[in-house]
Amino acid sequence: MENKTSPLNFSDEVTKRLGGETMTLCYQCGTCASSCPVAKITPRFNPREIIKLSLLGEREEVLSSDSLWLCCSCYNCQERCPQKVEIADVIYALRNIAFKKGHIPNIYSEFASALMSDGHIVKVSKFVENKRPTLGLPPLPPSGVEALRKILAATGFDKLQKKEESQ
Ligand code: SF4
Ligand code: SF4
Repeated sequence: MENKTSPLNFSDEVTKRLGGETMTLCYQCGTCASSCPVAKITPRFNPREIIKLSLLGEREEVLSSDSLWLCCSCYNCQERCPQKVEIADVIYALRNIAFKKGHIPNIYSEFASALMSDGHIVKVSKFVENKRPTLGLPPLPPSGVEALRKILAATGFDKLQKKEESQ
């Protein structure tokens, strides 16, 4: 278990990442939380709180929490933030750091495995394959998994995911 990080160290780590650059502009007004459809339906998710904890250097609490993965990337918050904090993108940056540290909910890990093996996040079932012609639909095109694997290898995603699968 990692200890609390210096606020400056963790802020630096986030703001150096693509998407995380604007995090330190936040002045905690709460507009993001009041605009967020996910925060409306569960107290487990609050974008203002995630940014506050990140600014305070609560690295482990932020990165190990499943709530980081509840954002649905609707960008409502980002449209409205008076400080122009790119909140959804900050959350992506935090997720990327979390994934590198081995924190990823099982369901996302399963999506990643399926993407690497089949080129689809969700496997296409035999039922769907068989149903398409009865509805006059053509067979599904190839998923292009080879090209996808090259991209995942170039970004290092494949190695991180294989490490995750072996744990
Ligand atoms: S709306 Fe912007 S400034 Fe206000 S709490 Fe959210 S991120 Fe911070
Ligand atoms: S992008 Fe994420 S944090 Fe922002 S309003 Fe949508 S669900 Fe909430």
